[in-house]
Amino acid sequence: MTRVALLGPPGAGKGTLAKRMIETWGFTHLSTGDILRDEVARGTDLGVAAKGAMDAGELVSDDIIIGMIRGRIESANKGYLLDGFPRTVAQAEALETISELEAVISISLSRDEVVRRLTARRVCSQCGKIFNLAFQPPANPGVCDACGGKLIQRDDDKEDVIQNRYDVYASSTAPLIDFYRKRGLLHEVDGSEGSGKAFEAVAGLLG
Ligand code: AMP
Repeated sequence: MTRVALLGPPGAGKGTLAKRMIETWGFTHLSTGDILRDEVARGTDLGVAAKGAMDAGELVSDDIIIGMIRGRIESANKGYLLDGFPRTVAQAEALETISELEAVISISLSRDEVVRRLTARRVCSQCGKIFNLAFQPPANPGVCDACGGKLIQRDDDKEDVIQNRYDVYASSTAPLIDFYRKRGLLHEVDGSEGSGKAFEAVAGLLG
């Protein structure tokens, strides 16, 4: 399969799983969250328009997201892994007019576990590698094992914002589980056992 989307609450392990999937199968990784963070860091018009919603844990408007991702999907002719898109039914409907998905992997994780994981998440400011102070700490505190970069906490990984992001997931994104189940595309994976187990499950589905 070459056209795959990952669905799941924040902190379910989409980013970590996506990294292993692209290393294994060579998809083009399309993460709307990463693209937006890059736009914000570069201070582009798009970044300025998106930052308020991102900092509050709200969704950026469907028009901005669809405009931003459309061309990238169209040019990923060797296949793509969508990570963090679609996040609303309107985005999923727009995607159907751009490209035909072959599989959707939905990773489940409870609200308590989401909060526990995300408050402990740290990200390398240089290479983007993800750590967790509770179950995947770096060898040296505050320093990336892979590149020596400084580890930082994302602005939206603070507890009140995390709670809001989970609410937004439950109301706006979770309806996509049924949307894709009805189309026969849905595969469900338990995210509570960590990224290694989630990857094994995905390899069984796609491998
Ligand atoms: P993520 O890294 O996927 O958790 O995304 C970080 C933030 O970027 C989200 O909390 C939203 O504010 C915004 N975002 C990312 N992807 C989307 C999307 N598909 N639709 C709307 N907002 C998005």
